[in-house]
Amino acid sequence: MIVEGSLELKDYMYEMRRCMRCASCKWLDHIYMPDNRFVYRCPSYGKYYFSKVAYGRLKLGLALTEDRLKDSPGMKDMVFQCLMCGACDSGCKRNLDLEINYSLEALRGHMVESGRYPKQHQKLIDNVVKSKNRYGLPAKERTAWKPTKAKKKADTVYFAGCGASYKQTQVAQATDKILGKLGGYMLLPGEQCCGHPLFAMGHFEAFKKQMEMNLKALAKTGAKRLVTACAECYKTWKVDYPRLMKKSTCDLPFEVVHITELVDEALGKGELELKGKLDMKLAWHDPCNLGRMSEPYTHWEGDRGQWGCLEPAKGFEAKQFNRGTAGTYEAPRNILKALQGVELVELKRHHEFSWCCGGHGGVPEAYPDLAAYAVDERLEEAKAVGAEAVVSACPYCKEQFEAGQKKRDHQVQVFDITELIAQAL
Ligand code: SF4
Ligand code: SF4
Repeated sequence: MIVEGSLELKDYMYEMRRCMRCASCKWLDHIYMPDNRFVYRCPSYGKYYFSKVAYGRLKLGLALTEDRLKDSPGMKDMVFQCLMCGACDSGCKRNLDLEINYSLEALRGHMVESGRYPKQHQKLIDNVVKSKNRYGLPAKERTAWKPTKAKKKADTVYFAGCGASYKQTQVAQATDKILGKLGGYMLLPGEQCCGHPLFAMGHFEAFKKQMEMNLKALAKTGAKRLVTACAECYKTWKVDYPRLMKKSTCDLPFEVVHITELVDEALGKGELELKGKLDMKLAWHDPCNLGRMSEPYTHWEGDRGQWGCLEPAKGFEAKQFNRGTAGTYEAPRNILKALQGVELVELKRHHEFSWCCGGHGGVPEAYPDLAAYAVDERLEEAKAVGAEAVVSACPYCKEQFEAGQKKRDHQVQVFDITELIAQAL
């Protein structure tokens, strides 16, 4: 019996055996390749080549599960030199419908259980577990960004997340202004880290504790909608929390909405107007966790039968494959098109083929060379399409783009979409 989204490596034997090394997880489809420069989809392949790609990791997982391998010097790096960006999963699903994301997550969990994870992750883990935020900063500084529109009680909770609360505070301030125009909001009392870094690094038990505390706090408010401007928080609340509870996203007692979805809807209904003029050529960067990683989760239990066909057990619905296409893609594009003077250009790799900014999966902490390579590539891509600025919708993307600019000035400006919206209100 397969339980959708299981965190156990042994539950991905089919994936690990069936992978035929077709390489769709490392390159863009041949019929889709935008040019002869931006051809990779997997940043760890682009940086390290060969085994440091999903198929190498699957075969390593297979050898570990079948007890054919105990330990080897490069094993830890092979597993963790990966951004957990999901590009490989979208690539594989163009071909075989293997659950690559789930397999890679379970492989991390397996390594963590035996203590084999990068020591550079420990500070981040301790920060979340002890201080309840990824930076290890005091809880009282979480609202130092000074929310001005927050109410004591509202149907909408704004979950700011660690990045916008402590570092990219302009994102929280801009969201405060936007939500103020859209009927107001309340903050989650005692907000703490959603747990995303723990999940992405494979520390599932610690993650579950964060999840339980956050779900309890939200239930107490009675709010029916949780809004976030952070792609990582969005994925965590919308996908990972229900997944760990063996529930579908649609069965949650509250709705999880990204600020871009809310603004797009309000613009469509004429409830919000964007003024001013920007006069700029902008490229939209699809954050992995807003796009392909954040398709609604649908719980399923069943089996793989002959020819790998799925056999839903009696009483369960047919499995819904997440192929990366049903994430939040159009809302931010609609908003940018509604900004006067903006010329919106597509990056070469977009939608489910988007290239990760490099800021994910514990990579900036443990493998800064990979994080730097990924963001440098993305900024090169922005220049190649003639963009004057790159826009994203996640505080961590912005942090990563700023770090990339600092290292090598690409002469490309960087914005979070909330800043542009707030400026136009
Ligand atoms: S795309 Fe899927 S089947 Fe092909 S090599 Fe990658 S993981 Fe294996
Ligand atoms: S998650 Fe991203 S970095 Fe990791 S193997 Fe897949 S495409 Fe490569």
